[in-house]
Amino acid sequence: MAKVWVVVEAKEGQIKKVTYEMIGLASQLGEVEAVVVGSGVKDLAPGLGAYGVGKVYVVDQPELAEYTTARYTRVLAELIGQEQPAKVLIANTAQGRDFAPRVAQRLGLGQISDVTGYEQGQFVRPIYSGKALAQAEAVAAQAIITVRPNVFNAVSAGAGTAEVVERTVALQPNDLLEVVREVAKQVSVRPELTEANIICSGGRGLKEPANFKLIEDLADVLGAAVGASRAAVDAGWRHHSFQVGQTGKTVSPQVYFAIGISGAIQHLAGMGSSKVIVAINKDPEANIFKVADYGIVGDLFEVVPVLTEELRKALA
Ligand SMILES: Cc1cc2nc3c(=O)[nH]c(=O)nc-3n(C[C@H](O)[C@H](O)[C@H](O)COP(=O)(O)OP(=O)(O)OC[C@H]3O[C@@H](n4cnc5c(N)ncnc54)[C@H](O)[C@@H]3O)c2cc1C
Repeated sequence: MAKVWVVVEAKEGQIKKVTYEMIGLASQLGEVEAVVVGSGVKDLAPGLGAYGVGKVYVVDQPELAEYTTARYTRVLAELIGQEQPAKVLIANTAQGRDFAPRVAQRLGLGQISDVTGYEQGQFVRPIYSGKALAQAEAVAAQAIITVRPNVFNAVSAGAGTAEVVERTVALQPNDLLEVVREVAKQVSVRPELTEANIICSGGRGLKEPANFKLIEDLADVLGAAVGASRAAVDAGWRHHSFQVGQTGKTVSPQVYFAIGISGAIQHLAGMGSSKVIVAINKDPEANIFKVADYGIVGDLFEVVPVLTEELRKALA
């Protein structure tokens, strides 16, 4: 059976959910193996066996403590070159989107990006900012596939341990030119946008930054993450890390609230694959209602406080 690799994405010692989603997809494609790259990450490997991973390659080196494009590209290109897996699944996150094409280029492989489905041997991926779905087939013996988070079902843990294979990759002087001096962390009690089950996003309809409090209150009642449209970000109301859309983050939560957001194609590109979309907008003609499962036509300043209060009571 063809070997299919999953490149584990982890943060601060925790494997991210998208990894388990990729394992689910990989199990439909062949024999699942995984790669863990970083520093102090060895302990993450054996537990992957419980999720159906047979073998885990671990590259655990101090120079890999912080992510840099050149170092990850070197490590993965080298391992893939040695072991020749048929497919390599990488999360379509900020990090994965950064190194996957470089690895593909270095090895002369094709890449199918931002996959959201797998049907009858074809990968499905949104194109034209989500206006159409393309089917793509990896015809060559090897390919890189990047996988959109929160779309595939994550596998649940069973029994079993994985065989762990430790490898060292000699980094070249050129790989070490990029140095991470500081990682600025935003401390938030809310879930991370790309991993959240529920997202409450606000747009220009909020009129001013202080009114984002309405979105935050709703988010806190629901245990949701907060997102924003580009108009809200460009106006300086939220940091760019909150932006959902073509030039922001791609999200696929169970429920997405679009509040005071018109539903421009570039915004839909980032949230169109959400399972349930709830739109609150005073304009009944707003584009967002074309994709919404539930729509409330009304003034958000009246609707959102009532909705928050009712949800607070219902969930108490
Ligand atoms: C190359 C490119 C990339 C882009 N990337 C992104 C991206 O990543 N993400 C993104 O979001 N956009 C992106 N955009 C911008 C996008 O085209 C839109 O301009 C933007 O999404 C609009 O944001 P908005 O919906 O918040 O604002 P608007 O379009 O101004 O919509 C505001 C909405 O609020 C409603 N509203 C106003 N007052 C109220 C009220 N009191 N109650 C209820 N509703 C109210 C209005 O009816 C309106 O529908 C991109 C554009 C380009 C050209």
